[in-house]
Parts: sequence; C-alpha cells; structure tokens
Amino acid sequence: MGDNQKAASSDVVYGWSDLFSPDEEGQGPALVGSRCSTCGYIAFPSLQVCPTCLIAGTMSRHVLSRSGKLENFSVVRQAPKGFQAPYIQAFIRLPEGLAIFTHLIGVDPDKDLIEIGTLWHVTAAVIKTRDDGQPLTGYAFAPAREMING
Ligand SMILES: [Zn+2]
Repeated sequence: MGDNQKAASSDVVYGWSDLFSPDEEGQGPALVGSRCSTCGYIAFPSLQVCPTCLIAGTMSRHVLSRSGKLENFSVVRQAPKGFQAPYIQAFIRLPEGLAIFTHLIGVDPDKDLIEIGTLWHVTAAVIKTRDDGQPLTGYAFAPAREMING
C-alpha cells in the first residue's frame, strides 16, 4: 500500500458517517450495515426498511465480517475525475452472504496475480480526491496475504 492510500483520521469520510465500527479490539475497521430482525436480511450500505419484508422498524445496525473472498474484479484504466487510474473495482463476498462492491488496494494490477476466491480484508483508504483537493476516505479491501509478483 502506498502512502497516498493510507487514511488519516482527519480525512473526509466518503458517503456516510456510520461507515466503520469503532476499532475497539484492535482488529482493524469493520464495515457497518443493517440486519432485519424478522427475516435476517443483511444490507450494506445500511437500509432503513428491509427490501424483503417491507416493514418499517425491523432493520438495526449490524457490524459485518472484516474479510471475505474475491468474487470478481475489473481493472479501470480510464478513471473518472478524482480517481487515479489504474485502480481495481471488485465484489468481495462476505461469510454473511452479501457481496460488497469495493476497490482493491495493496496490489499492482499490472504486476500482481489477483486470484478469484482469495481472502481479502477491509480497511480504510483514500478512494478519490475532491474538486478542492481534499482526499476522500472510504473503504477498500487489501489482500490477506502477500501477492505473487509476476
Ligand atoms: Zn426482512
């Protein structure tokens, strides 16, 4: 991971305020979603109403697993404004069953072997730069072990 991808606590957090749970046990950040008390549906980002039950008041805060398996990915070489190409977009499947759309960090898409089914851990990272030059911090997944350089 390059220094430009390390997130500082003073960075602006991308999207919503309750993105990460507090790192109380020194295990690193975990994403926060919501879970339906009636049917068990888990959503990320959090939802106010369960899309299965369609009843108000059944969703509550739910801390997600910190790691999951890489389901698929693509390398973006033509980045939208504020993003730095190349970067990797991916879906990570958590043990709870839901897939998280995310960036992958800590790997070089042109040098590292990125394998479907490998384990990745969630982390905080600078995702993009705002128009005023401020970095925006969000979530990303980093490899759980050393990548094999090709
Ligand atoms: Zn439900």
